[in-house]
Amino acid sequence: MSPIRGVCSRCGRPIKWIRTKNKKQMPVDFEPVPYWANKNGKGVIITVNGGTMRCDLQGQPNRETGFGYMTHFATCPGVKQQAI
Ligand SMILES: [Zn+2]
Repeated sequence: MSPIRGVCSRCGRPIKWIRTKNKKQMPVDFEPVPYWANKNGKGVIITVNGGTMRCDLQGQPNRETGFGYMTHFATCPGVKQQAI
């Protein structure tokens, strides 16, 4: 279950592959980020055990719900250029 390290073929950044609860391999940013759970939040985080959660990506310091991963599709400059 531990994430697989890799490099994005589009932008060359380090990524991890996380197996989601849908049994898909999801590319995520290498560094975990703090998130604040919020079912009306604008962000989506991939939790370390492969769940997805709607959240805020900014909030009160030291009050975060936990740390998770941003899907690399959201942050990859290569994806934006190719307009997938
Ligand atoms: Zn990329």
